[in-house]
Amino acid sequence: RPAELPDEVDVLIVGSGPAGMLAAAQLAQFPDITTRIIERRDGRLVIGQADGIQARSVETFQAFGFAERIIAEAYRITEMAFWRPDTNNPHNIVRGGRAVDDTTGISEFPHLIVNQARVLDYFAEVAAHAPTRLVPDYGWEFQTLEVADDGDHPVTVSLVRSAGPDQGAERTIRAKYVVGCDGARSKVRDAIGCTMAGDKANHAWGVMDVLARTDFPDIRTKCAIQSHDGGSILLIPREGGHLFRMYVDLGVVPENDNGAVRNTSMDQIIANANRILHPYTLDVRNVAWHSVYEVGHRLTNRFDDVVPGQVGLRTPRVFITGDACHTHSAKAGQGMNVSLQDGFNIAWKLGHVLEGRSPESLLSTYSAERQVVARNLIDFDRTWSTMMAKKPEEFEDPAELEDFYVRTAEFPAGFMTEYAPSLITGAATHQGLAAGFPLGKRFKSAMASRVCDTNPIHLGHHATADGRWRIYVFADPAPAGDPGPVADLAEWLSGSPDSPLAATPNGLDADAWFDVKVIYQQPHEDIDINKVPEVFKPLVGPFGLVDYEKVYGTVPGEDIFDARGLSRDGVVVVVRPDQYVANILPLTATAELGEYFARIHSGARV
Ligand code: FAD
Repeated sequence: RPAELPDEVDVLIVGSGPAGMLAAAQLAQFPDITTRIIERRDGRLVIGQADGIQARSVETFQAFGFAERIIAEAYRITEMAFWRPDTNNPHNIVRGGRAVDDTTGISEFPHLIVNQARVLDYFAEVAAHAPTRLVPDYGWEFQTLEVADDGDHPVTVSLVRSAGPDQGAERTIRAKYVVGCDGARSKVRDAIGCTMAGDKANHAWGVMDVLARTDFPDIRTKCAIQSHDGGSILLIPREGGHLFRMYVDLGVVPENDNGAVRNTSMDQIIANANRILHPYTLDVRNVAWHSVYEVGHRLTNRFDDVVPGQVGLRTPRVFITGDACHTHSAKAGQGMNVSLQDGFNIAWKLGHVLEGRSPESLLSTYSAERQVVARNLIDFDRTWSTMMAKKPEEFEDPAELEDFYVRTAEFPAGFMTEYAPSLITGAATHQGLAAGFPLGKRFKSAMASRVCDTNPIHLGHHATADGRWRIYVFADPAPAGDPGPVADLAEWLSGSPDSPLAATPNGLDADAWFDVKVIYQQPHEDIDINKVPEVFKPLVGPFGLVDYEKVYGTVPGEDIFDARGLSRDGVVVVVRPDQYVANILPLTATAELGEYFARIHSGARV
């Protein structure tokens, strides 16, 4: 049970959905930052809400240490089936096609279905075991906030007790920063004067998680099912072998509906489902959860409290994330996933600013980066959901839906995000040195051979969500220890006052702020680890032990230099704490590397 809420915190997170829980799990890694997460429910989410987990989210779970466990319990999507009316008898549906998931190897991680509650549980576990032992404070509802022009804790937040014996009790708490992760009806968004623009009307779906007896043969396969006149179903098989979810399309909600659609009964939803599935039948035996999910395509005008053009422009103090910023249909399974990445993006930046590693201007990049992603998401979802709503006779080619699904797979898998050049994303001047690591996109892992234990491993899977920058030094062909650009770079990194590593405070491990790894072109057996420069083998922990796990060679047949189009002259690839490629430089560009970090991560030298 968490201690009483303090009067002052560094960061107050409002809402324990996917965005809030990821932000909490990330900020909890910073030992000296006081973070609290409040939630108006009286306890954890138990059931319902989203369930689609794209590969980028699984990659993120890997960084937080629970990918293997959640994969083991989830349903795995390998194919999607498309059903449509039989041309000979339109009252019957037939399987029109199948689309294999991720035919091009976008990611080594799977596409999963698992309930949102389980995702939140895993993040809660990470946060509870992190250095600050962060546990959500349930039963607190955010009311409003005010931001003062100055002061150490300029944001004053009004809360009310929403559960427990003292329900209704009010109090205030002061924060340096507030992150609104409070969903589609966000009060934090209202408090900072953001407005949602987009569809006037909502679209409604009857959603049910059910156990049923059925002769529909694809009941354990993800399906889009279109009937000739009864509407459509999105079928999502669920973890555990029997449960499945159906989204039954209830159409656009009339403006004068006044919530009537929300009274659609389970019996009506089941009757609709049976009409669409004809000639197959659905005999529902148990309803685990159901809801009428009503949503429109909407986007806020900004993601923080700074109004462009305002007199005396300051850096932001309040941020909004996830559904508080963007809403859209559930059809492309994106809601939880994009919200997670919003939380990842803002949390490490807050950590770095609060620890004094980075200037406050870093925080302005959150809105700039995530707004573009949200706009692209809404455009994609609008196209996809419009296509899914089309009547079969409106398609020029019956396979149009499957083709679109396969052609655009990188987007719903979560890998199309590409941050533009900015304070933190370098210009593409040297992109040619590392063609397979596009600047601004997430670092796409590849195999390397760890020298100390000879293990072939996925390099990116060792980038944990610990708030550290990563500097990957891909070496030139010279053997380890020979004089040359790698040796010179290593000497500069460990010895120069202009090196980013020089900002790491005394008393911390040498790699506490930067994880520097070297990947040689030779196979591991040809690398003499004793000749590898010290900066790649830092002394760590209370006993000052040598960390040998940062030195790699190539895996024969899976050479990372070939797999990612890396220059044989060597290249430095800089990766952000949230796994996006931030800069690409030649091995000799120490001045540029120093200047890059001096702008955004100069620690004590700020
Ligand atoms: P949310 O997950 O909405 O989390 C917001 C959290 O903030 C909640 O825990 C809420 O209790 C809390 N909160 C809200 N206001 C306050 C306040 N004032 N003070 C304190 N706490 C507050 N997506 C799908 O893909 N398929 C679905 O079927 C589906 N069904 C949904 C059903 C419901 C009832 C809801 C609310 C959402 C559903 N979604 C669905 C959307 C999906 O869950 C979201 O896209 C995703 O959870 C967004 O994550 P988030 O962290 O931004 O917000």
